[in-house]
Amino acid sequence: MNLYKKILLAEVPLALALAIVCVVSVAVISSLGSHSQTVLKDNYRSVLAAQRMKEAIERMDTAALFIVAGERQKGIEQAEKNRPIFEAELKVQEGNITEAGEKEFTENLRRAWEDYQARFAAMQKTTSVEEAKRLYFAELEGAFYQVKAAADHILAINQDAMVRKSDAVRRTAESMKTITIIVGLAALALGLFLSSLLTRRMLQPLSALSEATHKLGEGNFDTRAHVRGNDELAQLARDFNAMAGRLSEYRKSSLGDLLQAHLSMQAAIDSLPDPVVIFSVSGELQNVNHAAETLLALSAETGIKEPLKRVHESIQVVLERVRSHVLSGKGAYVPRGFEDAVQLPTLLGNRYFLPRGAPVYETKGVVIGATVILQDVTRLRRFEELKNDLVATVAHEFRTPLTSLRMAVHLCTEGAAGPVSDKQAELLHAAREDCDRLQSMVDDLLDLSRIESGRIELFPLPTALSQLVQRAIEEHKPKADEAGLNLTADVPLPEARVLADHERIGHVFSNLIVNAIRYTPKGGIVTLGAEILDRSVRFTVTDNGKGIPSQYHERIFEKFSRVPDSEPRGTGLGLYIAREIIRGHGGEIGVASRGEPTKGSIFWFTLPLAGQPRSRGEA
Ligand code: ADP
Repeated sequence: MNLYKKILLAEVPLALALAIVCVVSVAVISSLGSHSQTVLKDNYRSVLAAQRMKEAIERMDTAALFIVAGERQKGIEQAEKNRPIFEAELKVQEGNITEAGEKEFTENLRRAWEDYQARFAAMQKTTSVEEAKRLYFAELEGAFYQVKAAADHILAINQDAMVRKSDAVRRTAESMKTITIIVGLAALALGLFLSSLLTRRMLQPLSALSEATHKLGEGNFDTRAHVRGNDELAQLARDFNAMAGRLSEYRKSSLGDLLQAHLSMQAAIDSLPDPVVIFSVSGELQNVNHAAETLLALSAETGIKEPLKRVHESIQVVLERVRSHVLSGKGAYVPRGFEDAVQLPTLLGNRYFLPRGAPVYETKGVVIGATVILQDVTRLRRFEELKNDLVATVAHEFRTPLTSLRMAVHLCTEGAAGPVSDKQAELLHAAREDCDRLQSMVDDLLDLSRIESGRIELFPLPTALSQLVQRAIEEHKPKADEAGLNLTADVPLPEARVLADHERIGHVFSNLIVNAIRYTPKGGIVTLGAEILDRSVRFTVTDNGKGIPSQYHERIFEKFSRVPDSEPRGTGLGLYIAREIIRGHGGEIGVASRGEPTKGSIFWFTLPLAGQPRSRGEA
């Protein structure tokens, strides 16, 4: 049965109920009609007959009076006219006996009528008026009243019956009304009940389909819609089940691939010796590798609430810092160097880690998570410490003999140990220069070890920037002149005070100026400048020397880093020490290339302003 027929079937009970109500109503109305018709037909006919008989007998009586009054012919004519009327009505009455007792009254009437007729005939025969008068008053009048009384009885019995039957009809109508209402309501209730039952049965496949769709939407691919029949809904359910089956197969096959991919990925990250932690875009822990589990006791198992809270606070802080950096859209978190290594308590004791973070992108380039790697640099760090200790010890041990060596060379050069020939003076001069270089190397190495061990102390004081620049120029002017270079300052210098440790900032200037002199050919210019920025002052040391390729701009500030093949060779520590000093002041340092045709480099660093900057024009 198709859906259309089912809908029609569901409406049948209501239609049947309506039909029942109609049939009952029609039956009630027709029963009432026939009932009242019977009343009219039977009793009304008797009432009519009785009345007509009464009229006829009265006219007969008048006819008799005509005869008594001497109008014999007129009386006979009137009597002849009314006799058949009476007779006919009496016959009707005799054939329409409906009430109890009516038969006796009718027989009485017949007898009285026949008696009246006999007496009327006797009176009619006499020709004497006197005799007629006597007969009338002696016999006929009494017979007349007998007939009339008998007709009145029939009239009364039928009128009473009419009243009684009319009451009965009214009562019947009342009860019929009640029956009709009860039957109508019952039929309606039954019709509604059956219709809703059928409609519900008809819609049951739809509920089954809707439930199955919901479960499928929740990921239950084994769900099926159980619908029987051959209608359109059953067909839809079969199609749905086929679709769910195909989806389930597809999911099983893609699930297998996914599982494989997941296992490979897990094996890959587990093979890494460093702890790897993967966060979702909302910051929840998604996955960890074996090293993270064994070293940090971190677990990404489901069911553990806030797994990050279960690890040591310092580990938590590092992970959260890298995670928020990456997920806030700042890109990868890359450590600046070994100095960013953090000591963390692991299950195998305290270890040094270099935290790194990288965003996880989906195919369209949207960030969907963050990967944090804690690179274990404990061994490297130990080597570094050993190296630093060695460097510090060697530099320290070098210092004292170097001082006496320099002193001895100096005294010999000055002739304190006797006269010196030109050739000897030349050799002594070269030895003094090498001693100076050795001294600056030892100083750099000692500074390095101080920085590494965090022993470098700064005492920043508010200082006029012009004072710092002028002092640097005065200090290095002779060296620049010796190298045939022009060392100048941009004039006018802005008036402002910066927070600077004089000695250390002097060291930074010294390093930058010495480098500029060293890498600028004879006849070049080295210029010192300063400009006031928002909250700091930017100092510059500009030269027109050979310049630095841009790929080394970052790297030359790292330890022992040099531009390859650059001569003369140094330790590669100067810029690193300068950077640490500037960072210690809360400033920044960097280098930029000068464009063609000038070539050369612009080294710059910033120092925080000590007070509000005042330009020259201001009071
Ligand atoms: P070094 O003791 O080797 O000079 P630095 O850290 O001071 O160490 O400098 C690192 C490297 O940067 C140098 O070796 C040199 O190659 C390059 N460099 C520094 N300043 C300049 C400059 N003004 N012009 C060209 N190269 C420079």
